[in-house]
Amino acid sequence: MPASDRSSILVTGGAGFIGSHTAYLLRERGYPVLVYDRLSNGACPAALVEPLVRADLTDTQALEAAMREHKVEAVIHFAASIEVGESVRAPLAYYQNNVAGSLALLAAMHRQGLDKLVFSSTAAVYGNAAFDPIPERAPFAPSSPYGHSKAAVEQILADHCATGGLNATALRYFNAAGAAPDWGLGERHQPETHLIPLVIQAALGQREQVSIYGSDYPTPDGTCVRDYIHVKDLAEAHILALEMLLDGGHRGYRAFNLGTGQGLSVRQIIEAVREESLRRGDRDFLVEEQARRQGDPARLVADASAARSALTWHPHFSDLQTIVGDAYRFFAELTP
Ligand code: UDP
Repeated sequence: MPASDRSSILVTGGAGFIGSHTAYLLRERGYPVLVYDRLSNGACPAALVEPLVRADLTDTQALEAAMREHKVEAVIHFAASIEVGESVRAPLAYYQNNVAGSLALLAAMHRQGLDKLVFSSTAAVYGNAAFDPIPERAPFAPSSPYGHSKAAVEQILADHCATGGLNATALRYFNAAGAAPDWGLGERHQPETHLIPLVIQAALGQREQVSIYGSDYPTPDGTCVRDYIHVKDLAEAHILALEMLLDGGHRGYRAFNLGTGQGLSVRQIIEAVREESLRRGDRDFLVEEQARRQGDPARLVADASAARSALTWHPHFSDLQTIVGDAYRFFAELTP
């Protein structure tokens, strides 16, 4: 069936970083999209995500009315609180938003007869994994309330799918990065805690300096290694997972890692931003080595071979230059 003949795809959290890029790409592919977001962190201007229902997930009246009125056929569920550090300080809010919010969504879907869901999960479910690279079979050992809340939702999804009441795919992202300046979209967090935006803001003179959290890790240059994946590649993976559900190519529950399998250190990221900054004639910036940030594992790299084979997903934008170049352009040219 052509995508434009379908009923709507509901994107919860569709004004957030990954949600807004996925909603945009869905529309590009001809899917009718309805964004459901409470706009609590100002990630994306509302005008970019029309049509929008501005409400909380636990507002089941609004949620079910949206599902009925827009003939929703499937849901991509991003809406969640996502800051590891904040989750340690405010765990109840994290369980409320992430677990209670997801339960409310699942109950509403059940009442409305909807049985197709793509869930935004995270590598944080693995915690300090004993695997390198990390496959999906690595046990869950989250090290923060954020990670626990996402692991809890995955468990709920698996149990619910086992009853036959739902077909769901969870996508566990490693480090989401990059931007789509050509779509007018990028990463806006308040406050910003992520490495790439922070370094770019320093290069643009919006921050005094960059901090390296820990230079004594057992890694080649002593700084933490992560698997950075471009948000456009993440958006594509959600559409592939959705299409497999819509076409009946997948029933029950399953989960995929999304990453490149390539590890990059904090210093490599800083150097790539510095190069881009010098290329653009922006300023150089100070880098200060500080103590380790609590709870940061030395190395987190995905084994994403399952997503490549089962979803036929292949990252096209996740080389370091494209990630940094796109994020830089977004901050330099599109961020007020
Ligand atoms: N990091 C850093 N300085 C910063 C912010 C982050 O050295 O100002 C490091 C952090 O310790 C981690 C990596 O950069 O090893 C990526 O951190 P980020 O918060 O972007 O993502 P996370 O890996 O925590 O999901």
